[in-house]
Amino acid sequence: MASPMASQVIRDLPLLRATLLRRRNPGIQLTPRRWLNLQEYQSKKLMADHGVTVQKFFVADTANDAIEAAKRLQATEIVLKAQILAGGRGKGVFSSGLKGGVHLTKDPKEVGQLAKQMIGYNLTTKQTPKGGVKVKKVMVAEALNISRETYFAILMDRACNGPVLVGSPQGGVDIEEVAAKTPELIFKEEIDIFEGVKDAQAVRLAENLGFKGPLQQQAADQIKKLYSLFLQIDATQVEVNPFGETPEGQVVCFDAKINFDDNAEFRQKSIFAMDDKSENEPIENEAAHYDLKYIGLDGNIACFVNGAGLAMATCDIISLNGGKPANFLDLGGGVKEAQVYQAFKLLTADPKVEAILVNIFGGIVNCAIIANGITKACRELELKVPLVVRLEGTNVHEAQRILNESGLPITSASDLEDAAKKAVACVTKK
Ligand code: GDP
Ligand code: MN
Repeated sequence: MASPMASQVIRDLPLLRATLLRRRNPGIQLTPRRWLNLQEYQSKKLMADHGVTVQKFFVADTANDAIEAAKRLQATEIVLKAQILAGGRGKGVFSSGLKGGVHLTKDPKEVGQLAKQMIGYNLTTKQTPKGGVKVKKVMVAEALNISRETYFAILMDRACNGPVLVGSPQGGVDIEEVAAKTPELIFKEEIDIFEGVKDAQAVRLAENLGFKGPLQQQAADQIKKLYSLFLQIDATQVEVNPFGETPEGQVVCFDAKINFDDNAEFRQKSIFAMDDKSENEPIENEAAHYDLKYIGLDGNIACFVNGAGLAMATCDIISLNGGKPANFLDLGGGVKEAQVYQAFKLLTADPKVEAILVNIFGGIVNCAIIANGITKACRELELKVPLVVRLEGTNVHEAQRILNESGLPITSASDLEDAAKKAVACVTKK
């Protein structure tokens, strides 16, 4: 098991990656994968199991299955929804040319035609990477008429030290835009974690969301059930947009996005077992397999570091000296020699890499283990790019001795600045 410090660092990494990428590509929108994220159909299954109102649905991974599912639903209208983790699907575009990741149709034949243009194609939305994300499954649900779309979410809020209910009568749309342009249309209820959602709070929020008459109590009930789900599944966020009403007088969760607290994995085994890592970069999964964290960037200097803070500092100092990081790999806490070898293998697999900068601060980590791992990796991988190493901390003298006596062309650096300068010099010399 990783030490608490190391796991904290690991949890910070996706966020850090988003920060870094955003800094380098202003305007880019990224949803950091900080916590387990499930597909809509998986989230809705959990919701249905907890008495929350969702449409009847099936999941299909071929056009034929989608047609079958539509038949089984016996609905007058069907809604087909591409299943990817990113939001904004409604306004997305497929690589097949099809516009919209959410489609309504009354014609059963069209279900097959639409599914064919969705499954196997990439869907690009405001929240996906540029090339989009490959759609492997579609949700086939009974469509309902929507008379009003509101927004509802439960979040963990640092400012109030606990969960907060957030809602707006202006739903369906981009909630960030509502918050920016009409902040008076965002309503909040802070929840006392020991007391839970009080009836008065649920009703007040339902009223603020614009639910009237009997719909108000129904919405309040749904809010309370969603909160109880939030608690029971150790969620960090439950977002329903649209949280809508039908002309027939039903309050329905039309969309669902749930994030889970990774620290709760041990008691939410069935939920974490649903984690489908196929939307990650393959190299990230490979790194995770060895308890390493890999983040791809677009420069040519590979960074091998321990800790998110040091990773950030290393990237910054490389940039400051006129270089660009190609990636970084975080070693975390309790390191083994074999991991160092794997780390080098992953770092050098990227053809963009023209130099490697090792920047390790040995606090929990023993520098001698790193040094042994480095020399072993250099020999076995027949490293072809220059290697600059800065080690500091526990057992550093022994580490220096191992590197010096290895006879390998390793450039030692005295500190972070020196290391960055030397690494940048390696790539600009050519
Ligand atoms: P998102 O774009 O990824 O957030 O996907 P949503 O699940 O929120 O769907 C986008 C939009 O499609 C919603 O805001 C609704 O307006 C519409 N929509 C989704 N399901 C239904 C449905 O069953 N009936 C109707 N009439 N519209 C729907
Ligand atoms: Mn939505």
